[in-house]
Amino acid sequence: ITEKIAALPPDSNYFSLEFFPPKTTMGSSNLRARLDRMSRALRPLFVTVTWGAGGSTATKSLELAELCQRELGLTTCLHLTCTNMSRELVDRALEDAKALGVRNILALRGDPPRGEEYRGVDAMGERTDAMDEEFEWAIDLVRYVRKQYGDYFCIGVAAYPEGHADEGHPEEQSLEHDLPYLVEKCKAGADFIMTQLFFDVEAYDGFERRLRGHESGVFKTMPIIPGMMPIQSYQMIKRTTKLSHARMPDDILERLDGVKGDDEMVKKVGVDVLSEIVTHIKKEKSPCPRGFHFYTLNLEKSVSFILERTDLIPSSMSDEEISILDVPLQTLS
Ligand code: FAD
Repeated sequence: ITEKIAALPPDSNYFSLEFFPPKTTMGSSNLRARLDRMSRALRPLFVTVTWGAGGSTATKSLELAELCQRELGLTTCLHLTCTNMSRELVDRALEDAKALGVRNILALRGDPPRGEEYRGVDAMGERTDAMDEEFEWAIDLVRYVRKQYGDYFCIGVAAYPEGHADEGHPEEQSLEHDLPYLVEKCKAGADFIMTQLFFDVEAYDGFERRLRGHESGVFKTMPIIPGMMPIQSYQMIKRTTKLSHARMPDDILERLDGVKGDDEMVKKVGVDVLSEIVTHIKKEKSPCPRGFHFYTLNLEKSVSFILERTDLIPSSMSDEEISILDVPLQTLS
Protein backbone atom coordinates (compact mmCIF):
# COMPACT_ATOMS: atom_id res chain seq x y z
CA ILE A 1 0.00 0.00 0.00
CA THR A 2 2.69 2.50 0.94
CA GLU A 3 4.58 1.71 -2.27
CA LYS A 4 1.43 2.39 -4.27
CA ILE A 5 0.84 5.65 -2.39
CA ALA A 6 4.44 6.73 -2.92
CA ALA A 7 4.09 6.13 -6.65
CA LEU A 8 1.18 8.60 -6.91
CA PRO A 9 1.80 12.24 -7.90
CA PRO A 10 2.31 14.28 -4.68
CA ASP A 11 -0.91 16.32 -4.94
CA SER A 12 -3.14 13.46 -5.99
CA ASN A 13 -5.84 11.62 -4.04
CA TYR A 14 -6.78 8.00 -3.59
CA PHE A 15 -9.28 5.94 -1.67
CA SER A 16 -9.78 2.48 -0.25
CA LEU A 17 -12.90 0.41 0.35
CA GLU A 18 -13.61 -1.83 3.33
CA PHE A 19 -15.67 -5.04 3.12
CA PHE A 20 -16.69 -7.61 5.68
CA PRO A 21 -17.15 -11.34 4.99
CA PRO A 22 -20.84 -12.22 4.50
CA LYS A 23 -22.31 -14.97 6.68
CA THR A 24 -24.23 -16.85 3.99
CA THR A 25 -23.43 -18.39 0.59
CA MET A 26 -26.04 -16.14 -0.98
CA GLY A 27 -24.43 -13.11 0.66
CA SER A 28 -21.03 -14.19 -0.65
CA SER A 29 -22.18 -14.52 -4.23
CA ASN A 30 -23.91 -11.13 -4.05
CA LEU A 31 -20.75 -9.56 -2.68
CA ARG A 32 -18.60 -11.19 -5.34
CA ALA A 33 -20.68 -9.58 -8.10
CA ARG A 34 -20.72 -6.25 -6.28
CA LEU A 35 -16.99 -6.25 -5.64
CA ASP A 36 -16.28 -7.02 -9.26
CA ARG A 37 -18.55 -4.15 -10.35
CA MET A 38 -17.24 -1.69 -7.78
CA SER A 39 -13.57 -2.42 -8.39
CA ARG A 40 -13.97 -1.92 -12.15
CA ALA A 41 -16.12 1.20 -11.91
CA LEU A 42 -14.48 2.93 -8.95
CA ARG A 43 -10.84 1.74 -9.08
CA PRO A 44 -9.85 1.90 -5.39
CA LEU A 45 -6.12 1.99 -4.63
CA PHE A 46 -6.74 -0.95 -2.31
CA VAL A 47 -9.47 -2.80 -0.47
CA THR A 48 -9.55 -4.05 3.11
CA VAL A 49 -11.22 -7.11 4.63
CA THR A 50 -12.38 -7.06 8.24
CA TRP A 51 -11.57 -9.69 10.87
CA GLY A 52 -13.98 -10.82 13.56
CA ALA A 53 -12.51 -10.27 17.04
CA GLY A 54 -10.98 -13.46 18.46
CA GLY A 55 -10.81 -14.98 14.97
CA SER A 56 -14.57 -15.52 14.69
CA THR A 57 -14.54 -14.89 10.93
CA ALA A 58 -11.06 -16.28 10.20
CA THR A 59 -12.04 -18.67 7.40
CA LYS A 60 -14.51 -16.29 5.79
CA SER A 61 -12.15 -13.31 6.03
CA LEU A 62 -9.41 -15.29 4.31
CA GLU A 63 -11.84 -16.46 1.62
CA LEU A 64 -12.84 -12.86 0.96
CA ALA A 65 -9.18 -11.79 0.93
CA GLU A 66 -8.52 -14.55 -1.61
CA LEU A 67 -11.35 -13.31 -3.82
CA CYS A 68 -10.06 -9.73 -3.66
CA GLN A 69 -6.34 -10.40 -4.03
CA ARG A 70 -6.21 -13.48 -6.23
CA GLU A 71 -9.34 -13.48 -8.32
CA LEU A 72 -9.99 -9.77 -8.71
CA GLY A 73 -6.33 -8.75 -8.59
CA LEU A 74 -6.97 -5.98 -6.05
CA THR A 75 -4.30 -4.83 -3.63
CA THR A 76 -5.75 -6.25 -0.44
CA CYS A 77 -5.22 -5.44 3.21
CA LEU A 78 -6.31 -8.02 5.76
CA HIS A 79 -7.42 -6.68 9.14
CA LEU A 80 -6.07 -8.86 11.93
CA THR A 81 -6.93 -8.53 15.61
CA CYS A 82 -4.82 -10.05 18.36
CA THR A 83 -6.68 -9.93 21.66
CA ASN A 84 -8.15 -13.32 22.53
CA MET A 85 -6.20 -14.86 19.70
CA SER A 86 -3.73 -17.67 20.30
CA ARG A 87 -0.34 -17.44 18.68
CA GLU A 88 -1.31 -20.43 16.50
CA LEU A 89 -4.31 -18.55 15.13
CA VAL A 90 -2.23 -15.45 14.43
CA ASP A 91 0.46 -17.56 12.75
CA ARG A 92 -2.08 -19.38 10.61
CA ALA A 93 -3.73 -16.13 9.52
CA LEU A 94 -0.40 -14.57 8.56
CA GLU A 95 0.82 -17.69 6.75
CA ASP A 96 -2.48 -17.99 4.85
CA ALA A 97 -2.41 -14.29 3.96
CA LYS A 98 1.13 -14.66 2.66
CA ALA A 99 0.21 -17.75 0.65
CA LEU A 100 -2.61 -15.76 -0.99
CA GLY A 101 -0.22 -13.00 -1.99
CA VAL A 102 -1.65 -10.51 0.51
CA ARG A 103 1.10 -8.02 1.42
CA ASN A 104 -0.81 -5.71 3.79
CA ILE A 105 -2.04 -6.20 7.34
CA LEU A 106 -4.06 -3.78 9.45
CA ALA A 107 -2.76 -4.74 12.90
CA LEU A 108 -5.45 -4.28 15.56
CA ARG A 109 -6.07 -5.17 19.14
CA GLY A 110 -9.78 -5.97 18.68
CA ASP A 111 -12.43 -5.58 21.33
CA PRO A 112 -12.55 -8.08 24.19
CA PRO A 113 -15.80 -10.06 24.22
CA ARG A 114 -18.56 -8.44 26.28
CA GLY A 115 -18.44 -9.24 29.95
CA GLU A 116 -14.74 -10.10 29.88
CA GLU A 117 -12.65 -8.39 32.52
CA TYR A 118 -11.15 -5.23 31.22
CA ARG A 119 -7.50 -5.59 30.19
CA GLY A 120 -6.89 -8.66 32.30
CA VAL A 121 -7.59 -6.83 35.54
CA ASP A 122 -10.53 -7.92 37.67
CA ALA A 123 -12.83 -5.71 39.74
CA MET A 124 -10.33 -5.80 42.61
CA GLY A 125 -7.52 -4.63 40.35
CA GLU A 126 -5.85 -8.05 40.41
CA ARG A 127 -4.24 -9.46 37.29
CA THR A 128 -6.23 -12.24 35.63
CA ASP A 129 -5.33 -14.89 33.06
CA ALA A 130 -6.00 -12.53 30.18
CA MET A 131 -2.95 -10.56 31.26
CA ASP A 132 -0.70 -13.53 30.48
CA GLU A 133 -1.64 -13.51 26.83
CA GLU A 134 1.08 -12.81 24.34
CA PHE A 135 -1.03 -10.23 22.54
CA GLU A 136 -2.55 -7.60 24.74
CA TRP A 137 -2.34 -4.46 22.61
CA ALA A 138 -2.08 -3.83 18.89
CA ILE A 139 1.60 -2.94 19.34
CA ASP A 140 2.26 -6.57 20.34
CA LEU A 141 0.94 -7.68 16.94
CA VAL A 142 2.92 -5.02 15.06
CA ARG A 143 6.11 -6.20 16.79
CA TYR A 144 5.27 -9.83 16.17
CA VAL A 145 4.60 -9.38 12.45
CA ARG A 146 7.84 -7.41 12.03
CA LYS A 147 9.79 -10.02 13.99
CA GLN A 148 8.41 -12.97 12.04
CA TYR A 149 8.13 -11.46 8.57
CA GLY A 150 10.58 -8.56 8.40
CA ASP A 151 9.41 -6.16 5.69
CA TYR A 152 7.22 -8.66 3.87
CA PHE A 153 4.01 -7.07 5.14
CA CYS A 154 3.13 -3.40 4.93
CA ILE A 155 1.50 -2.72 8.31
CA GLY A 156 -1.32 -0.30 9.05
CA VAL A 157 -2.58 0.62 12.51
CA ALA A 158 -5.77 2.22 13.84
CA ALA A 159 -6.07 5.68 15.36
CA TYR A 160 -8.99 7.65 16.78
CA PRO A 161 -9.38 11.37 15.93
CA GLU A 162 -11.62 11.85 18.98
CA GLY A 163 -9.76 9.42 21.21
CA HIS A 164 -10.39 5.71 21.75
CA ALA A 165 -12.87 4.61 24.39
CA ASP A 166 -13.21 1.10 25.74
CA GLU A 167 -16.65 0.08 26.90
CA GLY A 168 -17.14 1.29 30.46
CA HIS A 169 -14.07 3.55 30.37
CA PRO A 170 -15.25 6.78 28.70
CA GLU A 171 -12.95 8.80 30.98
CA GLU A 172 -9.98 7.56 28.97
CA GLN A 173 -11.34 8.87 25.67
CA SER A 174 -8.89 11.53 24.55
CA LEU A 175 -6.16 12.02 22.04
CA GLU A 176 -3.81 12.91 24.92
CA HIS A 177 -4.34 9.46 26.39
CA ASP A 178 -3.78 7.66 23.08
CA LEU A 179 -0.89 9.64 21.66
CA PRO A 180 2.06 8.11 23.56
CA TYR A 181 0.78 4.63 22.69
CA LEU A 182 0.20 5.58 19.07
CA VAL A 183 3.75 6.92 18.82
CA GLU A 184 5.12 3.64 20.19
CA LYS A 185 2.86 1.58 17.92
CA CYS A 186 4.16 3.45 14.86
CA LYS A 187 7.78 3.28 16.00
CA ALA A 188 7.36 -0.48 16.42
CA GLY A 189 6.96 -0.78 12.66
CA ALA A 190 3.67 0.64 11.35
CA ASP A 191 3.70 2.05 7.82
CA PHE A 192 0.38 3.85 7.74
CA ILE A 193 -2.50 4.97 9.95
CA MET A 194 -6.18 4.42 9.26
CA THR A 195 -8.70 6.24 11.42
CA GLN A 196 -11.94 5.52 13.15
CA LEU A 197 -15.01 7.03 11.48
CA PHE A 198 -15.86 10.59 12.45
CA PHE A 199 -18.24 13.39 11.48
CA ASP A 200 -16.57 16.15 13.46
CA VAL A 201 -14.25 17.45 10.79
CA GLU A 202 -12.69 20.05 13.12
CA ALA A 203 -11.72 17.26 15.50
CA TYR A 204 -10.12 15.46 12.54
CA ASP A 205 -8.20 18.57 11.47
CA GLY A 206 -6.89 19.01 15.02
CA PHE A 207 -5.91 15.34 15.20
CA GLU A 208 -3.99 15.41 11.94
CA ARG A 209 -2.24 18.69 12.81
CA ARG A 210 -1.26 17.27 16.17
CA LEU A 211 0.20 14.13 14.63
CA ARG A 212 2.07 15.91 11.84
CA GLY A 213 3.65 18.33 14.28
CA HIS A 214 4.48 15.73 16.92
CA GLU A 215 7.93 16.15 18.41
CA SER A 216 8.83 12.50 17.75
CA GLY A 217 8.66 13.22 14.00
CA VAL A 218 7.20 9.74 13.53
CA PHE A 219 4.03 10.98 11.78
CA LYS A 220 5.69 13.64 9.66
CA THR A 221 5.25 11.93 6.31
CA MET A 222 3.35 8.77 7.26
CA PRO A 223 0.10 8.24 5.31
CA ILE A 224 -2.85 9.05 7.61
CA ILE A 225 -6.05 7.82 6.02
CA PRO A 226 -9.29 9.23 7.47
CA GLY A 227 -12.16 6.75 7.89
CA MET A 228 -15.44 7.72 6.20
CA MET A 229 -18.75 6.08 7.03
CA PRO A 230 -21.50 6.72 4.44
CA ILE A 231 -24.87 7.20 6.16
CA GLN A 232 -27.18 4.32 5.25
CA SER A 233 -30.00 4.87 7.73
CA TYR A 234 -30.89 7.20 10.57
CA GLN A 235 -31.07 4.51 13.25
CA MET A 236 -27.91 2.81 12.10
CA ILE A 237 -25.79 5.95 12.14
CA LYS A 238 -27.08 6.89 15.61
CA ARG A 239 -26.11 3.44 16.85
CA THR A 240 -22.74 3.41 15.08
CA THR A 241 -21.66 6.84 16.32
CA LYS A 242 -22.65 5.83 19.85
CA LEU A 243 -20.69 2.57 19.68
CA SER A 244 -17.63 4.20 18.16
CA HIS A 245 -17.84 7.24 20.46
CA ALA A 246 -17.79 9.60 17.48
CA ARG A 247 -19.51 12.97 18.02
CA MET A 248 -22.22 13.92 15.57
CA PRO A 249 -22.03 17.74 15.21
CA ASP A 250 -25.33 19.55 15.87
CA ASP A 251 -25.67 20.96 12.36
CA ILE A 252 -25.33 17.50 10.77
CA LEU A 253 -27.73 16.02 13.30
CA GLU A 254 -30.29 18.74 12.50
CA ARG A 255 -30.06 17.99 8.79
CA LEU A 256 -30.59 14.28 9.47
CA ASP A 257 -33.35 14.92 12.02
CA GLY A 258 -35.20 16.95 9.38
CA VAL A 259 -35.53 13.89 7.09
CA LYS A 260 -35.39 11.00 9.55
CA GLY A 261 -38.71 9.49 8.44
CA ASP A 262 -37.56 9.18 4.83
CA ASP A 263 -34.80 6.59 4.26
CA GLU A 264 -33.95 7.79 0.77
CA MET A 265 -33.60 11.39 1.95
CA VAL A 266 -31.41 10.28 4.88
CA LYS A 267 -29.05 8.60 2.41
CA LYS A 268 -29.10 11.68 0.19
CA VAL A 269 -28.27 14.01 3.09
CA GLY A 270 -25.59 11.49 4.07
CA VAL A 271 -24.01 11.73 0.61
CA ASP A 272 -24.04 15.55 0.91
CA VAL A 273 -22.49 15.45 4.40
CA LEU A 274 -19.74 12.98 3.50
CA SER A 275 -18.97 14.81 0.26
CA GLU A 276 -18.54 18.04 2.23
CA ILE A 277 -16.20 16.31 4.70
CA VAL A 278 -14.08 14.80 1.90
CA THR A 279 -13.96 18.10 0.02
CA HIS A 280 -12.84 19.92 3.16
CA ILE A 281 -10.08 17.43 3.97
CA LYS A 282 -8.91 17.32 0.35
CA LYS A 283 -8.16 21.04 0.52
CA GLU A 284 -5.94 20.75 3.61
CA LYS A 285 -2.20 20.56 2.98
CA SER A 286 -0.67 17.12 3.18
CA PRO A 287 2.95 15.91 2.96
CA CYS A 288 1.85 12.88 0.92
CA PRO A 289 -1.02 12.05 -1.47
CA ARG A 290 -4.33 12.26 0.37
CA GLY A 291 -6.35 9.15 0.85
CA PHE A 292 -9.80 8.33 2.20
CA HIS A 293 -10.95 5.00 3.58
CA PHE A 294 -14.64 4.12 3.17
CA TYR A 295 -16.44 1.79 5.53
CA THR A 296 -18.76 0.49 2.80
CA LEU A 297 -20.76 -1.97 4.95
CA ASN A 298 -20.70 -3.96 1.69
CA LEU A 299 -23.04 -1.39 0.11
CA GLU A 300 -22.43 0.25 -3.20
CA LYS A 301 -24.59 3.24 -3.93
CA SER A 302 -23.77 5.90 -1.36
CA VAL A 303 -20.03 5.38 -1.61
CA SER A 304 -20.20 5.55 -5.41
CA PHE A 305 -22.11 8.85 -5.27
CA ILE A 306 -19.65 10.33 -2.76
CA LEU A 307 -16.62 9.26 -4.81
CA GLU A 308 -18.12 10.68 -7.96
CA ARG A 309 -19.18 13.93 -6.30
CA THR A 310 -15.74 14.48 -4.77
CA ASP A 311 -13.86 13.53 -7.92
CA LEU A 312 -11.97 10.69 -6.25
CA ILE A 313 -12.44 8.09 -9.00
CA PRO A 314 -9.21 7.88 -10.99
CA SER A 315 -9.50 8.07 -14.74
CA SER A 316 -9.34 4.61 -16.28
CA MET A 317 -5.96 5.29 -17.82
CA SER A 318 -3.01 6.86 -16.07
CA ASP A 319 -1.38 9.93 -17.66
CA GLU A 320 1.47 7.68 -18.63
CA GLU A 321 -0.87 5.26 -20.41
CA ILE A 322 -2.63 8.14 -22.14
CA SER A 323 0.66 9.65 -23.26
CA ILE A 324 1.69 6.30 -24.73
CA LEU A 325 -1.57 6.26 -26.70
CA ASP A 326 -0.87 9.79 -27.91
CA VAL A 327 2.26 8.52 -29.63
CA PRO A 328 1.66 7.27 -33.21
CA LEU A 329 1.46 3.49 -33.05
CA GLN A 330 4.42 2.78 -35.34
CA THR A 331 6.80 4.62 -32.96
CA LEU A 332 5.96 2.13 -30.21
CA SER A 333 7.26 -0.91 -32.05
P1 FAD B 1 -4.56 -0.43 20.65
O1 FAD B 1 -3.66 0.30 19.73
O2 FAD B 1 -3.98 -1.55 21.43
O3 FAD B 1 -5.22 0.64 21.61
C1 FAD B 1 -6.37 0.35 22.39
C2 FAD B 1 -6.49 1.35 23.53
O4 FAD B 1 -5.53 1.05 24.53
C3 FAD B 1 -6.22 2.82 23.18
O5 FAD B 1 -7.04 3.61 24.02
C4 FAD B 1 -4.77 3.02 23.54
O6 FAD B 1 -4.50 4.37 23.85
C5 FAD B 1 -4.64 2.12 24.77
N1 FAD B 1 -3.32 1.51 24.94
C6 FAD B 1 -2.51 1.03 23.99
N2 FAD B 1 -1.41 0.48 24.55
C7 FAD B 1 -1.55 0.61 25.89
C8 FAD B 1 -0.74 0.26 27.00
N3 FAD B 1 0.45 -0.36 26.85
N4 FAD B 1 -1.20 0.54 28.26
C9 FAD B 1 -2.39 1.17 28.45
N5 FAD B 1 -3.19 1.54 27.40
C10 FAD B 1 -2.77 1.27 26.16
N6 FAD B 1 -12.07 -4.53 15.26
C11 FAD B 1 -12.28 -5.82 14.88
O7 FAD B 1 -12.59 -6.66 15.72
N7 FAD B 1 -12.13 -6.21 13.56
C12 FAD B 1 -11.77 -5.33 12.59
O8 FAD B 1 -11.64 -5.72 11.42
C13 FAD B 1 -11.56 -3.96 12.96
N8 FAD B 1 -11.19 -3.04 12.03
C14 FAD B 1 -10.92 -1.75 12.42
C15 FAD B 1 -10.49 -0.84 11.45
C16 FAD B 1 -10.20 0.47 11.82
C17 FAD B 1 -9.70 1.45 10.76
C18 FAD B 1 -10.37 0.89 13.17
C19 FAD B 1 -10.12 2.32 13.58
C20 FAD B 1 -10.81 -0.01 14.14
C21 FAD B 1 -11.08 -1.35 13.77
N9 FAD B 1 -11.50 -2.30 14.72
C22 FAD B 1 -11.71 -3.60 14.33
C23 FAD B 1 -11.76 -1.90 16.11
C24 FAD B 1 -10.54 -2.06 17.05
O9 FAD B 1 -10.17 -3.41 17.14
C25 FAD B 1 -10.98 -1.54 18.42
O10 FAD B 1 -11.22 -0.15 18.36
C26 FAD B 1 -10.08 -1.88 19.60
O11 FAD B 1 -10.79 -1.57 20.80
C27 FAD B 1 -8.78 -1.10 19.66
O12 FAD B 1 -7.92 -1.54 18.72
P2 FAD B 1 -6.51 -0.80 18.46
O13 FAD B 1 -5.83 -1.60 17.43
O14 FAD B 1 -6.72 0.64 18.23
O15 FAD B 1 -5.83 -1.04 19.91
